[in-house]
Amino acid sequence: MKVEIIPCLQDNYSYIIVDEKNNKTCVVDPSESKPIINFLEKNNLKLNYILNTHHHYDHIGGNIELKKKYKAKVIGFNGDYKRIPEIDIKLKDGEIWKEDNFESKIIHIPGHTLGHICFYFYNEDNLFTGDTLFSLGCGRIFEGTYEQMFNSLEKIKNLPSKTKIYCGHEYTLQNSKFCIKYDKDNLELIKKIKAIKKKLNNNQPTIPTTLGEELKSNIFLRSDNFKIKNNLNINKGSSLDTFSKLRDLKDNF
Ligand code: ZN
Ligand code: FE
Repeated sequence: MKVEIIPCLQDNYSYIIVDEKNNKTCVVDPSESKPIINFLEKNNLKLNYILNTHHHYDHIGGNIELKKKYKAKVIGFNGDYKRIPEIDIKLKDGEIWKEDNFESKIIHIPGHTLGHICFYFYNEDNLFTGDTLFSLGCGRIFEGTYEQMFNSLEKIKNLPSKTKIYCGHEYTLQNSKFCIKYDKDNLELIKKIKAIKKKLNNNQPTIPTTLGEELKSNIFLRSDNFKIKNNLNINKGSSLDTFSKLRDLKDNF
């Protein structure tokens, strides 16, 4: 299985998963159809499945056209079937979707939206996190509560640290500026910032990142860290308090 990164719109990433054994493909979060079609045609591929992490237009914008052109099946969260255009296969939290050689667990991670899910391809250690976990950041809380978002990130934190994280946007550099402000002594973060700048200077995506790296450098996964609590002047608060405070500060950053 290969994961191709397809830049879309301003700063979105869609992903095409190619099973080279039988030339079957999935697209994750097609923001728009054109770049997806371009890639498929260049590589003599057709599209079999469309996977959506959530209903925002920059993650489902290509659904209708791609389904029409390739008769691909649309796969999403059952609780959000009214908001995922053209949905065919509705999956529940914890359910495993298995078709052709694709095998992915669906994990419900509400917060950014109430119906947000991630796709965990556990055989390949690939996790598609949409707008919930970014490299060095997390999504804005649009529909859920702080607690829901916090718990969703906790679910992701429990996966193996070698898990590769494929998120919905190239926000890493901007996110890093927030992380370093409140976590300035973190050597892993400083190392990571050097690495992402190098990638961006070479016109490469900073994605995928790994869960292991994020656990060490992403401030939103480190709300139990006493230095960060100190920097925020809330050393007595819970991890959820710290997380909520960070999320508020980031919204106004
Ligand atoms: Zn979104
Ligand atoms: Fe988005």
